[in-house]
Amino acid sequence: MDSQELVAKVSAYLPPEDLPLIEEAYRFALEAHAGQVRKSGRPYLEHPVQTASIVADLRLGAAGIIAALLHDVPEDCGIALEEIERRFGVEVRNLVDGTTKLNMIARRGSEKVEDSHPQADNLRKMLLAMSQDVRVVFIKLADRIHNMRTLGPLPPQKRDRIARETMEIYAPLAHRLGIWRLKQELEDLSFRWLQPDDHREIAHLLEVRKTAWDRYITYASRVLKDEFQKAGVKADISGRPKSIYSIYTKMQKYAEQGKEFSEIHDLLAIRVLVDEISDCYNALGIIHSLWHPLRGQFDDFIANPKGNMYQSLHTTVIALEGKPLEIQIRTHDMHRTDEYGVAAHWRYKEGAKKDIGFEEKLAWFRQLIEWRQDLTGTDLVESLKADVFKDQVYVFTPMGEIKELPRGATPLDFAYRIHTELGHRCTGAKVNGKLVQLTHQLRNGDVVEILSTKSDRGPSLDWLNPHSGYVKSHLARDKIRQWFRRRERAENLERGKALFEKELRRLGVSASGIEIASLFDYDDLNEFLIAIGCGDISAHQIGPKLVPREETVSPPPTAPKRPAAPTGIQVLGVGDLLTHLAPCCMPVPGDEIAGFVTRTKGVTIHRRDCPNISAESEKERLIDVSWGQSVRSYPVSICIKAYNRVGLIRDISTVVSENKVNITSISNVNHDDATASVYLILDITDIGHLSRLFSRLERVRGIISVSRIAGDR
Ligand code: MN
Repeated sequence: MDSQELVAKVSAYLPPEDLPLIEEAYRFALEAHAGQVRKSGRPYLEHPVQTASIVADLRLGAAGIIAALLHDVPEDCGIALEEIERRFGVEVRNLVDGTTKLNMIARRGSEKVEDSHPQADNLRKMLLAMSQDVRVVFIKLADRIHNMRTLGPLPPQKRDRIARETMEIYAPLAHRLGIWRLKQELEDLSFRWLQPDDHREIAHLLEVRKTAWDRYITYASRVLKDEFQKAGVKADISGRPKSIYSIYTKMQKYAEQGKEFSEIHDLLAIRVLVDEISDCYNALGIIHSLWHPLRGQFDDFIANPKGNMYQSLHTTVIALEGKPLEIQIRTHDMHRTDEYGVAAHWRYKEGAKKDIGFEEKLAWFRQLIEWRQDLTGTDLVESLKADVFKDQVYVFTPMGEIKELPRGATPLDFAYRIHTELGHRCTGAKVNGKLVQLTHQLRNGDVVEILSTKSDRGPSLDWLNPHSGYVKSHLARDKIRQWFRRRERAENLERGKALFEKELRRLGVSASGIEIASLFDYDDLNEFLIAIGCGDISAHQIGPKLVPREETVSPPPTAPKRPAAPTGIQVLGVGDLLTHLAPCCMPVPGDEIAGFVTRTKGVTIHRRDCPNISAESEKERLIDVSWGQSVRSYPVSICIKAYNRVGLIRDISTVVSENKVNITSISNVNHDDATASVYLILDITDIGHLSRLFSRLERVRGIISVSRIAGDR
């Protein structure tokens, strides 16, 4: 690769004004390394240029490219850092300096044979360096990739050492940063030198099948392409076998289960790249109508991205010749993230917004390293190898002990994780020295201190309510349930009764207890109330089970007959006063209401719990009112939270219209996390109507929650 080729490559994403300095750096490196050759006999310059080219794959800015070109100049050519700073600026100097220091750390680490954990020591320092400026690590990884590609001519002992170091440190590091492509190549290259026989064997197995696989993939791709074309979905389709090292680890796993290589069915995968997220789901639909999906082999990592930002749809189908075929569907953007991990998100240009998720990971590294200076070797290496970012967060006790919790865990989860009693007695928490709510979501590296009471008052039943977000872990949930189950029956009965009555008031419905109990398959009311009292049934489950009841809105027999008010609503207790519904809380028949006498517009009807009337200072202007006969429908605002997908709005509107409800307005907001909020204004005749509709909507695929908005919430 010469100067022109490199410049052509970076000009694909860098502005033209960056190019002259890159060309100058190329010439500078050319002169500095003049006459130097590598073990292979090729000119030394090839190495920094290839390193820069790999760095360009990671889309680093001009400073990163230049630093990659110059990374061996200070050490190998004796050129002072000051000279580099003078010509290319302080940013480049610092990157080159950082890379050089990383080299020295790596070398020292591998020389200290008497130290039992050189890698851990190494790694810690490397991570520390990374936490200063991660570009240094990107350059180092690129440097290592090229060295691994050209390892052949080195003496065997040196080759082995470098290969081992790569497998133990650099590949996990690339993995941790989510740079999938580099990770795979580093692993395959190390594997080739560390276990040449195994490598050869798998390469041979792949070679033998290659022709058949190629034919299969070509054919399957053609079938897909035709179907996509018919449906108007634009997609790039490619097929590829897994990497050699990942096949090796898979074979190891299969061997433990007594299975053969021929039984591994996901060696082949087809990848479908599309432009938009909606196309992903369209493509999935087409594939599933073409080939039968294998049960339990579908993963939606778009709606639920993995911790390292990986997004894709995975499905395995019974494709041609009845063979299982794995298909991954994602957008081009998601693909970039997969291949280049955080580097794909890394825009290190001045003024550009940094990637928050990535910053968080770095902060975690920094703390992990700083806090665990005494860490003995393998721990850190192991924890790097393990997939720590996937679904967990790591937090610290005030004593510096690390605790692992599921992602989204709260101080309560933490308290129960430490000790059951601490959970039961928890009254508050401090995170990093600051008081937080018990529903606060913990993040990597947080220091958590639990405040507890000495009294034996026990947990709150509300902690079990899945909507309130108090606990995330099964452990905490189970402990809380246990506590309530062990209470006296009478105590649970009393608590259940109170919760039950409160919930009926909240819903504004009147129904007999035994009727509701029967909806939950209880024929004994007390048993039902006890189940609520000990948390087996959540009071919040009651609403969705209720069906509308005519009598909730029918007028008392003595209701005076009178013409409908101008709003079309009949409200009792206001005589012939003009009434209208308050726009702030939009009351619906069934809601508890109050009237507010306005100066000019008659009586405004609010929900009784509307903050606007409870904050009202002139209480004498509030009057008691109640619902008359419902003569029309009323507008109600609702908000639906859902995982965004194609057809979501259509499915929502279908359910609403099937329930004979009119939609007067619909709008939606798409969020960054692949979810959406859909806002509807509906015409509703009574509250029972609404709760029935809610429970229908909650069954629509992808819908997370449905709630009424405005007024009290
Ligand atoms: Mn180098």
